Amino acid sequence: MDKNAKICIIGGGPAGLSAAVQLEKKGYTNYTILEKENWVGGKCHSPHHDGKRFEMGAIMGCPTYYAVHELEEFGGASHEGGPKLERSYRRLNGKPYDPFDPKRNPFLIPRLLRTKNQVKKLGTLLKTKYKGYEYTGHRGVAEGRYDGFDPVTGEHVTGVNPNLKDLALPFDKFCKMNGVSLCQDIWIAPFTAFGYGYFDEIPAAYVLKYLDFETAMYFVNKNLWTWIEGTQSIYECVNNKLKNPARLNVNIEKVTRENGKVQVYANGKKEEYDAIIVTSPLQYLPDYFDATDKEKELFAKIDYERYDVTAITIKKGSYYPEMSSYVFDNMKPERLGHMMVFYLRWKNEPNQVISTYILRNHNGKELIDYETGKKMAWEDLKTCGVDIDKCVYERKWYYFPHVFQEDYASGWYDKVEAMQGNLNTYYAGEIMSFGDMEETVQYSKDLVARFF
Ligand SMILES: Cc1cc2nc3c(=O)[nH]c(=O)nc-3n(C[C@H](O)[C@H](O)[C@H](O)COP(=O)(O)OP(=O)(O)OC[C@H]3O[C@@H](n4cnc5c(N)ncnc54)[C@H](O)[C@@H]3O)c2cc1C
Repeated sequence: MDKNAKICIIGGGPAGLSAAVQLEKKGYTNYTILEKENWVGGKCHSPHHDGKRFEMGAIMGCPTYYAVHELEEFGGASHEGGPKLERSYRRLNGKPYDPFDPKRNPFLIPRLLRTKNQVKKLGTLLKTKYKGYEYTGHRGVAEGRYDGFDPVTGEHVTGVNPNLKDLALPFDKFCKMNGVSLCQDIWIAPFTAFGYGYFDEIPAAYVLKYLDFETAMYFVNKNLWTWIEGTQSIYECVNNKLKNPARLNVNIEKVTRENGKVQVYANGKKEEYDAIIVTSPLQYLPDYFDATDKEKELFAKIDYERYDVTAITIKKGSYYPEMSSYVFDNMKPERLGHMMVFYLRWKNEPNQVISTYILRNHNGKELIDYETGKKMAWEDLKTCGVDIDKCVYERKWYYFPHVFQEDYASGWYDKVEAMQGNLNTYYAGEIMSFGDMEETVQYSKDLVARFF
């Protein structure tokens, strides 16, 4: 593409900003980022309370966040000195316990040993039987191929591996067929508690592209990154360094693709571009694009998680939890709507907020409404001994867009990838890879390398 091409990027989240950085690095400077909110960072959203920032969206990364690290370097941000992530575990009655400590739970020793062996086995299977599982994006997986970007070497890698088709199975079935069901005990906290759905519905491809073996082990060993000014600060720093920072508060009314160009109607004005990169939810693209029948058909298959976060303060002088806590027994579909985790960033600071996290949907089950879910989360927090003062922020997110087993297996991703570039339109953002920072940032990097 001509380096003077005028390129529109919809969305100033990690995917959109990563696309802008990569375009700029390749010499394209005529790009425009259109963001509907009055902030950049999207779901990396770190509002202020009492002089400190808390997290309403993304919280952490780890040493396998190569592409995010590249953005840190571009923007001059750093995860050094971020608050240490500490965690405890609680029972449904709110009482702390340690499900992984054999000294405190001698009767659990056989299960813990079997889990350890199965984790080792899964690690080996991923390196051998499922070679190629970890590369960016989902191209070829349903056909038993890999065709993606290796973030470690920065190279594009392709190959054939028919076993990869198994990744379309829900993660619980994938684990069962490989004799590693107990691995779910390890993968569940960073997956389900963080809103990515239940293992009986989500294809293994998503679970393992996010929590590839190395990343999962960083979570287990708590070798994690956080940012003093929150994850949003990474993207604020990037945006400040871009030649063309994002335009905020932009309402895109309509997008048409006519006469070899892209027309964007935003805030009452028409702008014309040579190409457009869409990082906003593709599910809603037909609402404002002149969508083709194929776009309508494929994007209608996308589902997403209803994942809610509330940030509360506690009553002065009342009990203050020492650290964040997981409630494993609430990570089951039967406990839909209950608090799976609460998070606080700073040790011994009673003035900070505590964030609560719940899921309200499960495939085939009735959706729990927002207010009911919020009430359930706060009841659960009270059970943990927390006396809530007030809610300072709340948010229901459009979270982790994905497709289910049948569509994954029938090649949804290859059909969408085959449309890349048609009508000068390129698709990026969470659905194209996975709903975490690293995968979305990586995908945009790969997209720019492939097409620009
Ligand atoms: C509670 C929570 C916890 C999380 N924890 C982690 C974590 O610990 N680690 C991790 O790596 N990831 C985590 N994530 C996920 C991570 O934040 C997202 O995967 C990542 O932000 C996705 O980037 P994106 O740019 O694809 O989408 P988004 O971040 O959603 O950004 C999309 C942007 O597009 C804008 N937009 C949407 N529609 C339009 C439109 N029509 N016009 C203009 N602009 C539009 C949005 O306002 C937004 O700014 C978490 C997210 C949440 C919500």
